Parts: sequence; structure tokens; C-alpha cells
Amino acid sequence: MLSEYTITTQRESFYDITRQVCDAVENAVAARGITDGIAVVYCPHTTAGITINEKADPDVVQDMLIGLEKAFPDRAEFRHREGNSAAHLRASVVGSSASLIISGGKLVLGTWQCIYFCEFDPPRTRKFFVKII
Ligand code: ZN
Repeated sequence: MLSEYTITTQRESFYDITRQVCDAVENAVAARGITDGIAVVYCPHTTAGITINEKADPDVVQDMLIGLEKAFPDRAEFRHREGNSAAHLRASVVGSSASLIISGGKLVLGTWQCIYFCEFDPPRTRKFFVKII
């Protein structure tokens, strides 16, 4: 079962997509009776990614963005003509997917965890997919 979602981004940030992923799992449970399996969340873009991290304190995301900017700043010697090599670097480090465990018909997430779509080259209209197996 593959679900596709669209997200519109306005700024470089992490966007909480936990609700959409939970909906995909609930749909798989209702349609196919899947109670134990794997949910793969996948981003088909080269300047965006997927990660799992803390939501309880929004400063964590802000600090991660600061860290990524300091670790992978825009550099004058970059050759890519589109001019967004820093966004490509940040996206590759974050990764383009996350795999989550489904147990008892629900995602196994830690108390403080949520699933983020990570935008590094805004503004864009983006897609992500959830595959339940
Ligand atoms: Zn590019």
C-alpha cells in the first residue's frame, strides 16, 4: 500500500508529518488488516529529506538547522549552477527516508519523537510517500 502526500514549504525548516504517516498506517490497518509491519517514509527530492527527532521542544529543530547551516554552509567555490549545493549536502546528510515499526496497528514512536519532512531549498511544493509492508 503506497500513499502519496503533498506539502508546501515556505522556509527552510522541519515540517511535522507524523499525522499523515499515522493516517497511512490506520488506512492500512483498516483496508488490509496489517497490524505488524514496516512503514517506510520516503522523500523523492534532492534538496529535502526525512528524519525522526524531538518535537516537545521546538528549539531542538532550530538548533539542528543552525548546526546543519554551520556544518554545511554555502561556499563560493561550489560549482553546481543551480546555486543550492548547501541544500543538497544537508539533504544527503539527513537522508531521504525513515523506516518505522508498526506494532499492534500503531507506529512505534518514542514519547518525544515525531517524523519530519526537512526542507532545505524553499519555497517548494513537495511530495513524500508512505509505503506500508
Ligand atoms: Zn541543485
